[in-house]
Parts: sequence; C-alpha cells; structure tokens
Amino acid sequence: MARRRQIYEGKAKILYEGPEPGTLIQYFKDDATAFNAQKKGTISGKGVLNNRISEHIFTLLAQIGVPTHFIRRLNMREQLIRQVEIIPIEVIVRNVAAGSLSKKLGIEEGTQLPRTLIEYCYKDDALGDPMISDEHIACFGWASQEEMHDIADMAIRVNDFMCGLFAGIGIRLIDFKLEFGRIWDGEFSRVILADEISPDGCRLWDAVTNEKLDKDRFRRDLGGEVEAYQEVARRLGLLPEGAENAILDMETHRKKRGI
Ligand code: UDP
Repeated sequence: MARRRQIYEGKAKILYEGPEPGTLIQYFKDDATAFNAQKKGTISGKGVLNNRISEHIFTLLAQIGVPTHFIRRLNMREQLIRQVEIIPIEVIVRNVAAGSLSKKLGIEEGTQLPRTLIEYCYKDDALGDPMISDEHIACFGWASQEEMHDIADMAIRVNDFMCGLFAGIGIRLIDFKLEFGRIWDGEFSRVILADEISPDGCRLWDAVTNEKLDKDRFRRDLGGEVEAYQEVARRLGLLPEGAENAILDMETHRKKRGI
C-alpha cells in the first residue's frame, strides 16, 4: 500500500490525508499524556476503545442534529473525517466541580454546580492552554460572535444529550472538553464539532461508587486505565458481554499476522 501523507501528529491522534479532497483519516494512538505532556505513557488498547466510543457518540449527536466532522469508521483505530479549520479554543463544559476548577476556586471535587459552566481555553501547548474569556476570543479574532453563539449552543446540546446518555448507564458526566472547526462552502463557513469524545477528554464517574472511569486514572496513578475505558464501552453496548478482551486480542492477532 502506498504510504499516506501525515498531516499532523498530536498527543493521542495522528491525522493523515484522506481519500478525497476535504477528508482526513484520524488514527487513534495508545499514547496518553497529562499535565501539559509532562507525564507521558501508553494505555494499551486505548486507541481502539476511543475510536469506537467517539464514533458512537458522534453518530448519536448527528442523529439529534449536531453537525460533526465524523464520516465513518474505517477500521479499529481509524475513522474518516471531514477536514476542518480547527478553531483554537478548547471548550470545557462542567456539571460537577473537579480538576482545575476545584483547585483554582477551592471547591470540593464532586460538588454539583448550580448550573452548567462553560469555560474556554486557548489551544496552545507551549502556553499550557490558558483559560480565556469571550473578550479574548473577540479581541484576537479567534472566532466571530456568531460562531461563539453557535459553539455555546452546541456545547449545551451536547451536554444535555450526554448527561442523559451516561445517566442511563449509571455514569455521572462530571465535565468534558470539546473542539470545533470551520468548514467552508465558497465564502461562507459554518462551525461543526470536531476532535473526539472519549474518556480521554471527559470525567466519567460511576453513579453509585464514584469510581473514576476516565483519564484521571492515568493522571492520578490509580491504575486500571484500560479496564475503565472498557467498562465505559461495555456499558454503552459497544463490547459484547464477556468479550472485553476480544477486540484487543483480535488486534494483537492481526498485528502478528501483519494485516
Ligand atoms: N480536558 C481535556 N484536554 C485538556 C484539558 C482538559 O480533554 O487539554 C478535559 C479533562 O479531561 C476534563 C475537562 O476537560 O474532563 C476539564 O479539565 P480541567 O480543566 O479540570 O483540567 P485538568 O484537571 O485535566 O488539568
């Protein structure tokens, strides 16, 4: 097979040129980073699970009318996506205090917030993704007022939908991160949901035990990372009962046979 042209390599994913103009292939790696990449590791099998979980959530979101970059899954680690112009803003949606919010404002982790909180961070690793306000976004022209309106609107819709989805499988959606991109049609553009939605960028707690089923297991050295991601996939109905290791075994088997 001809070598594909790599467009970009991020911390957890690689983007390759797609088969048609305006498309890309998004490859999910097992690499994990935390604390602005100061902590690095691999979670064996994470890429396979995130590819599947993100596909599932993006497909459901499209069904309720949230436009996304997802086109279709290609194989265990890759999906075909629409090429977008990434808006350099990380949109954090919070329902319950945790992580940096708890630290910054001294609010105990697990405290239910009186209303959903949306925060914005400027996507810049060298600067450590600093928190910014609407004013910074307008001042530096990172997104227009209209785009920010659409982004906030979509973030709330995604949150409402995902809270329900996870509540139905005994999981509390504490917080999560979204990224958006622009697609162009002539001189007009619109904003669609991009990147991924997986336990890498969400805090997911078991509704009964408060057990963490997300990347905090890696950040906080709790162990059992892949089992936690598998549990999320299993509860979403993405792993047949009792076949938790089947996907990963199958991949190892394919790799050994060089296919
Ligand atoms: N998050 C993310 N990427 C980032 C920063 C945050 O996916 O670069 C997610 C994180 O997994 C969590 C939410 O956004 O679900 C809020 O993260 P927080 O601001 O508390 O930062 P952290 O405690 O992870 O440093």
